[in-house]
Amino acid sequence: MPREHAIRLPKNPQPKEWLAKDHSLQYIADYKPFNFVDGEGVRCSIYVSGCLFNCPGCYNKAAQNFHYGQPYTQELEDQIMEDLSQSYVQGLTLLGGEPFLNTQVCLKLVHRLRKEFGHTKDIWSWSGYTWEELQKESADKLELLHNLDILVDGRFLLAKKDLTLQFRGSSNQRIIDVPKSLAAGKVVIWDKLVH
Ligand code: SF4
Repeated sequence: MPREHAIRLPKNPQPKEWLAKDHSLQYIADYKPFNFVDGEGVRCSIYVSGCLFNCPGCYNKAAQNFHYGQPYTQELEDQIMEDLSQSYVQGLTLLGGEPFLNTQVCLKLVHRLRKEFGHTKDIWSWSGYTWEELQKESADKLELLHNLDILVDGRFLLAKKDLTLQFRGSSNQRIIDVPKSLAAGKVVIWDKLVH
C-alpha cells in the first residue's frame, strides 16, 4: 500500500493578523544593486528580513527570520538612492522575507524614491500575500501596495512549482500591474507577461 504523506502548506493568516509593527525588527538580509533578475531591466533589490508564511521549499529560508542580517541604516538608504540615480537603472525591487511585514523599511524607501525620482523609476515587490488578501489588510500594507508598479503575489506552492515561469516560482503567483488593477478594481496582469 502506498504510504500517504501529509502535504505541508504555507500558513494562511486572517486579515490583519500579522502586523509589521508586531514583527519587523527592520533588518535587511541582503542588498543587490545593478542586477537583472528581480524584475524588468536593471534593478536595485533589497531583501528585508522576516516572513511568517513558512512556505515549504521557500527560496530564501534564512530570511524568514526577523533577526537575520543587518539593521536597516540611513547609510544604506543613501547608497540605494545613489545607485538608483544611475540612468541605466530601471527601478527598485522589494523582496524578502516579506516586504509587507517590513513596511517601516519599505515605506521609507518607496516614499524617498518617489520624492527623488517621481515615476522615472519603477517599484516592484514580491509578497506571500495575494492581491485579494492585501485589500483587507492594515493601512501600512495598503499604503505600500498603492506605491507599487508591480506586485508578484502569493505563497510559493511546491505542488505548483514551475521553474520556467517568468519571475515566479509557482503557477499560482501572478505578476500584477498595480496602478491598472487599482483603477479597474480587479487584478490586471502585467501586459509584458510572456509565460
Ligand atoms: S512568502 Fe516567500 S519568503 Fe515567505 S516563506 Fe514563502 S517563499 Fe519564503
